[in-house]
Amino acid sequence: MAAVPFSVSFASKVAIVTGGARGIGLACARALCNRGASVVLADADLETASKAAMEMNTQQNKVLAFACDVSSTAEVEKLVQFTVEKLGGVDIVISNAGIVRAAPFLEMTEKDFDDVINVNLKGVFLTGQHAARQMVKQGRGGAIINMGSVNGVTAIPTIAGYNASKGGVHNLTRSMALALAPHGIRVNAIAPGSIMTDVLRKVADNPEEMNKVLSRVPLGRVGEPEEVGEIAAFLASDSASYIVGETIYADGGRLALN
Ligand code: NDP
Repeated sequence: MAAVPFSVSFASKVAIVTGGARGIGLACARALCNRGASVVLADADLETASKAAMEMNTQQNKVLAFACDVSSTAEVEKLVQFTVEKLGGVDIVISNAGIVRAAPFLEMTEKDFDDVINVNLKGVFLTGQHAARQMVKQGRGGAIINMGSVNGVTAIPTIAGYNASKGGVHNLTRSMALALAPHGIRVNAIAPGSIMTDVLRKVADNPEEMNKVLSRVPLGRVGEPEEVGEIAAFLASDSASYIVGETIYADGGRLALN
């Protein structure tokens, strides 16, 4: 069951999608690109990002890949510079790059905790700040969408750093929204539940574990990346012109269950 695409044009808009090489990021990039946006797929995995970019390029819109670790200020700065040089500006940012490190709380290493916070939370801060400086300079508004998680409001004990990082993303989204709304830049977040990407595909190999996941989803199925991509396109579009500082949950009813 895929989300039904809605009609909106992003012709002449330029988007940056972090973690855009695969999974949810790639689906967000496709949702924008299919509607006419030019997109930079910014990812730690340049090879996969480049292959995806080549497939998505059309005569109407450009799709470029760029190697970027979102936890590095210097690399995020270069990402924004590259986007401006190659595509003429920045209108839409999907801050989606994220990692998970699992371990029981008492055994979680400081490095794993730091890595998760640095990519998932600091990465959203750096990407949002550097892109927003450019967007403010341009003076034509825009939209920033940060990828949160249902784990930003509920907690799975083995991923304490991840839960904390996503809770941080939801609140950082509000702070960014307040700072940038006066410039016509709308900042919102999406909090997905269980979406079928590489992480969940590994769980799907174990039917018992998969049944546990499904038992927590009232809709009785996991989500597809495209179902998050459509929400990103909506939030980036003028159809969401009065939505600011919100987090939209896409979880098949999981949070309603708690
Ligand atoms: P994937 O692991 O499938 O894709 C994430 C992409 O981000 C990968 O290409 C990865 O590269 C890249 N990446 C990792 N670290 C960095 C970094 N430091 N800088 C730039 N790129 C990086 O993830 P999903 O598509 O499943 O998830 C995307 C987002 O959605 C994440 O923020 C995740 O937390 C969130 N989310 C996902 C859910 C799900 O069920 N899938 C549920 C809730 C939230 P590489 O492979 O080289 O590491």
